[in-house]
Amino acid sequence: MIDFAIARRRMVEQQIIARGVDDQRVIDAMMQVPRHLFVESGLQSHAYSDASLPIGEKQTISQPYMVAAMSAALDLQGHERILEIGTGSGYQSAVLSLLVKRVYSIERISVLAGRARKVLDQLCMSNINIKVGDGTIGWRDQAPFDGILVAAGAPDIPTKYLQQLDVGGKLVLPVGDRSQQILMRVTRLGDDKFKREQLMDCRFVPLIGEQGWLTDED
Ligand code: SAH
Repeated sequence: MIDFAIARRRMVEQQIIARGVDDQRVIDAMMQVPRHLFVESGLQSHAYSDASLPIGEKQTISQPYMVAAMSAALDLQGHERILEIGTGSGYQSAVLSLLVKRVYSIERISVLAGRARKVLDQLCMSNINIKVGDGTIGWRDQAPFDGILVAAGAPDIPTKYLQQLDVGGKLVLPVGDRSQQILMRVTRLGDDKFKREQLMDCRFVPLIGEQGWLTDED
């Protein structure tokens, strides 16, 4: 029997803190969320390894370090309303739910959204709204957001995200081709003023939709 609490502590020390994530609230959240509940039972023994893992439907749960680094890049204080694109397993949503006031998460594949909802309900994480649909157009009714986190790779920055970001808010997303991307952070400094930063290389599944890739095939 694996002791998941020990595996999780080791993950946080070796993959998160050792690689430079120093936001204590993010570290605490990564220590708290039971990642093994977000993968299928056959993969639970790998849940705390330094990798993304398949979750079905050709999608993946992001690597722990990437979840921590993206969360830290949003500079969260606790009062925020955040838009997340690509609910997937719901793991990133769970981490964010401990860091902000409310998470609005969009997933295009309804079976994944349903599974994520179930696990998040079991964990009593009640500050997460999940909707099924094309997240490349954002969530207009709930905008503006204090932060936007995109967990799938976009060919370009969808303009709706810039429009739906509040002044002072940050958008973190992978931009590039289908096989590799650069993690970018865009900070809205004013109505028409945005600061763009390149954070690191990364590999995500494609963001598919009106303002992303048109299909999930090459
Ligand atoms: N953060 C997730 C990782 C999800 S992988 C986790 O921790 O498990 C990326 C997810 O983005 C996939 O589930 C995929 O179906 C979804 N996705 C891709 N394009 C999308 C779009 N336009 N709108 C919403 N979700 C999308």
